[in-house]
Amino acid sequence: MAVARILGMSGTREWVYPQSIQGAFMRLRRGTFLALHLALFVAPWVTVKGFPLLLVDLPRREVHLVGAVFTAADTIFLVLLLLFLAFSLFFFTAVFGRVWCGYACPQTVFLESWIRPIEMWIEGDRTQRKRRDGRGLSWDKAWRKGVKWVLFLGVSFLLAMAMMSIFAGARPLWMGRASFASYALVAILTGFWYLDFTWFREQFCIYLCPYARFQSALTDDETLLVSYDEPRGEPRDKSRGPEGGCIGCQKCVVVCPQGIDIRDGFQLECIQCARCIDACQSVMERFDQPTLVRYSSIATDGGKKHRAFRPRTLTYGMLLTVLTVASTVLLMTRVPFEATVNRAPGSLFQVDQDGYVRNTFLLKISNNAAAREAVTYHVEIDGIEGAELLVQDVSLEGSESRTIPMVVRVSLGTDLQRTVPFHVNVTSSAGELRLATTFKTGVSVGGTE
Ligand code: SF4
Ligand code: SF4
Repeated sequence: MAVARILGMSGTREWVYPQSIQGAFMRLRRGTFLALHLALFVAPWVTVKGFPLLLVDLPRREVHLVGAVFTAADTIFLVLLLLFLAFSLFFFTAVFGRVWCGYACPQTVFLESWIRPIEMWIEGDRTQRKRRDGRGLSWDKAWRKGVKWVLFLGVSFLLAMAMMSIFAGARPLWMGRASFASYALVAILTGFWYLDFTWFREQFCIYLCPYARFQSALTDDETLLVSYDEPRGEPRDKSRGPEGGCIGCQKCVVVCPQGIDIRDGFQLECIQCARCIDACQSVMERFDQPTLVRYSSIATDGGKKHRAFRPRTLTYGMLLTVLTVASTVLLMTRVPFEATVNRAPGSLFQVDQDGYVRNTFLLKISNNAAAREAVTYHVEIDGIEGAELLVQDVSLEGSESRTIPMVVRVSLGTDLQRTVPFHVNVTSSAGELRLATTFKTGVSVGGTE
């Protein structure tokens, strides 16, 4: 039964026909939708130093972002990013409620930017759509539905390709050079969006979205929510417009994409899209009265002063500040290459015929810079007096790794312990890495045990 309800097959689903609406919040939302579309469609095509502005290369475990390459060794940045996103969501939900749902969630952004305009263009606004759907099958209904569904399929494919471009690279994906797995994922994503656009729609927010489930735990009495001014609005009467009361025009209800009536109070289905604010605004301005649906909080409605700074918002704000500062410091001190030093397998130490103790190491250097120009790495050591270092400078292209042998020799006459800690310094024009390791003599060289 639950599955049938989720799939909208229980027979209890009331199809929602949201009416189109214009207004200040709709304009604001269109601005954020445009910015998000630009990020999705343009970022994977723009290249910086020969690499995409944004590319999440999962097989190679690399993330290219604005010319920098982050590898598995930079996992700390992924942890910081996830923490930042989580606390941003907590912070914005505490202040503005489900602002994510109404302004930035892909489900809302794609439905508002593509699906509703296409639907309105082909089938007309709410009343025409509702009336036509209520009638039996006709040629007019059939061709409109057919064209609409074909266009929805095209949009689903376009969005799936745009999303996969972030993971497979826009050029290889669109030119047919990406992997089979990438195209298989495009097919799955296309199917997902097509099902969502043609059938599932608002049910995703109501039944499947996990954020909708826990968002009430993130809000409090002072969170700004889209709500109805009940004391001013009630009782509803057609004649109450001039005095600012609700005239019962239902405009706030018919524009709602979730099919709810904001005048019934806060409801879990509400995605805070503010369409009902624009709707009531358009009605009440005819009477020169302020809108009855607006952003408000339970505290404000109860006559208390709204506090933007309260323990919850201050805590989230402080955590976001700490995360931002920590990420900035780490980014500024990060060098765009990695190096590791390990003792060569099976070789602890060796005594050469010329009276030197020799340790052989394997030094691995990875150039993580996105630039294709080669970078030269120079290696030095410190911490062992009079040590001789046998290693060559290494020149690496962008994203290239190489492992080279490194030999350290110390004269048997030197006064050393069995194990001597020392540092390997790898330097390039981009910075320096200092690696700690040990030199093994095996015996007390020079007599000091
Ligand atoms: S009640 Fe208003 S804010 Fe909530 S989903 Fe409906 S139109 Fe959007
Ligand atoms: S749009 Fe405003 S006046 Fe019309 S029913 Fe809704 S709350 Fe009442």
